[in-house]
Amino acid sequence: MPELPEVETYRRYFEETALGQTVIDLKAEDPRRQLTTDYDTLQQALQGTQFVGTHRIGKHFLITLSSGKILVLHFGMTGDLAYYRDEEDTPRFARVIFYFSNGFRLAFIDSRKFGRVGLAASVEEYQRVKALGPDALDITLPQLQASLEKRKAPIKPLLLDQKILAGIGNWIADEVLFQAKINPVKSATTLSADEFGRLHGAIQLVLRTAIEQEAVYQTFPKSFLIHARGWDDTVVTSAAERQICPRHNTPLEIAKVGGRTTYFCPIWHMISQNSG
Ligand SMILES: [Zn+2]
Repeated sequence: MPELPEVETYRRYFEETALGQTVIDLKAEDPRRQLTTDYDTLQQALQGTQFVGTHRIGKHFLITLSSGKILVLHFGMTGDLAYYRDEEDTPRFARVIFYFSNGFRLAFIDSRKFGRVGLAASVEEYQRVKALGPDALDITLPQLQASLEKRKAPIKPLLLDQKILAGIGNWIADEVLFQAKINPVKSATTLSADEFGRLHGAIQLVLRTAIEQEAVYQTFPKSFLIHARGWDDTVVTSAAERQICPRHNTPLEIAKVGGRTTYFCPIWHMISQNSG
């Protein structure tokens, strides 16, 4: 599933290809399912306009049009982009195609069709309607601490709450808490100033590493939990198959926290308890 790092990678790809192009036409394979704006309205809004800017809030990709309107791409489970020229290079599962005046095209690829394409009045309006907090890369330490320090809930589900900060998915939350050495079940209100500092630093570290590696997880540093955890939530139940902590070479704990599969290192937990 495209998470913040993938969507940031797509945004950068878009900036290198389709940004600055003028749209002359649009085709959608399954408009009733995948367009959030009706086809005629979307086509009228796009024809003759230029893609002039990009913005990302969490997993949501927003494109500013020369008309001032915003085109929103949400990649769902399997969304991706491809910029190309010739009909025969049209990728498989190209669900929406933007045609440009320079002869090139941009395909919104989506095999499983959970992605969405539509218009918004402005970035702020979209953020308000979708109830999205600040982007996880933009949130400052004081903002993060202020939005969490009075919450009694375990820290992990709070990190996944897109109203608090946008763009943290399940594997990212586990990696962030592992790097910050914070137990996922710990109540947010009990976190110390030092732990908030580590949490903010770990969010930056994990997201920036993932973006640098263009979301190719196999090339992440060896010290990352993801190599043991994987990025899907397949739970290994037998003790013999338990995943091994990359720091301590001991078995990881696997639990449901806030209803989501959670991997964490019990040794980090012991250390953080002992050190107060
Ligand atoms: Zn460990």
